[in-house]
Amino acid sequence: MGKASKDKRDIYYRKAKEEGWRARSAFKLLQIDEEFNIFEGVKRVVDLCAAPGSWSQVLSRRLYLPAKSSPDCRDSDLPLIVAIDLQPMAPIDGVIQVQGDITNARTAEVVIRHFDGCKADLVVCDGAPDVTGLHDMDEFVQSQLILAALTIVTHVLRVGGKFIAKIFRGKDTSLLYCQLKLFFSHVTFAKPKSSRNSSIEAFAVCENYSPPEGFSEKDLYHLLEKIGSPSGVEDLDCRSGWLEGPNKVYIPFLACGDLNGYDSDRSYPLPHSSEGGCYKSLDPVQPPIAPPYKTALELKKAANHGILEIDKLSLNSDE
Ligand code: SAM
Repeated sequence: MGKASKDKRDIYYRKAKEEGWRARSAFKLLQIDEEFNIFEGVKRVVDLCAAPGSWSQVLSRRLYLPAKSSPDCRDSDLPLIVAIDLQPMAPIDGVIQVQGDITNARTAEVVIRHFDGCKADLVVCDGAPDVTGLHDMDEFVQSQLILAALTIVTHVLRVGGKFIAKIFRGKDTSLLYCQLKLFFSHVTFAKPKSSRNSSIEAFAVCENYSPPEGFSEKDLYHLLEKIGSPSGVEDLDCRSGWLEGPNKVYIPFLACGDLNGYDSDRSYPLPHSSEGGCYKSLDPVQPPIAPPYKTALELKKAANHGILEIDKLSLNSDE
């Protein structure tokens, strides 16, 4: 798909470039905030799986930059934003970057070190594995990433804090809801307007972190496993016990963002083309600096080059 055609078919892609966001995902976080006011009172944030950085940009623009430009704000009062990803990303004002794997236990330690032992008010995670198109498989891998994020949350989030995580809706959604509900008093699954209806993506908005009494981080997996098995029913009240039949869990599901706003599944005319003018597509704000497909592109280029060389040789030998 050409850039102009993508601009037409994906209004959020076009708007992201116009407003200086590195990715259209920025609108998802903004629309979640419109509904849940997630930034209120937030001073320390962790952005898990942050590259190329549009969520970090939102955090910087909403939290760091306003504080920085306020004459009363001392440096020690500036919000702290720590962003983690497997991939490096270009710098963003007020965002500390850590290149690392969120499934690695040491990642939590690195974050805590940046916060000087203090805990975070908000953890966001937009992590996604490479999607295969096999929904069960994608949902499973995604849930593993959320559990890794939840492990970090149990180490770095303060009691009362919030956690926002990308999820893939599927047959285990109720289980995931119950697992999150063990740790947060309010859990809502939200679908921002900028997330396509055709996509199984949604976001878990978890409010008021309140781990079970006597909870120790090392018991996390034991606790989560229990909730998925009938043997765990009596111990936990999400705590609804076995999740089917009369105990079926009803998950609060909310569409968010201005419902009269842009529909991510619709095509919109390009700004000038309706008046007969010429539309110029903008370049991406910040292309990834070391995307995982970079080596593949280089190999493909090298292979093409090799084939061309061979073709040239065989042409020469025919002469
Ligand atoms: N929120 C980002 C933004 O607004 O620009 C987009 C995130 S992108 C959809 C998903 C990211 O998850 C990718 O950059 C990928 O490298 C990262 N990711 C996937 N698995 C990860 C892991 N185990 N540890 C850290 N990052 C991971």
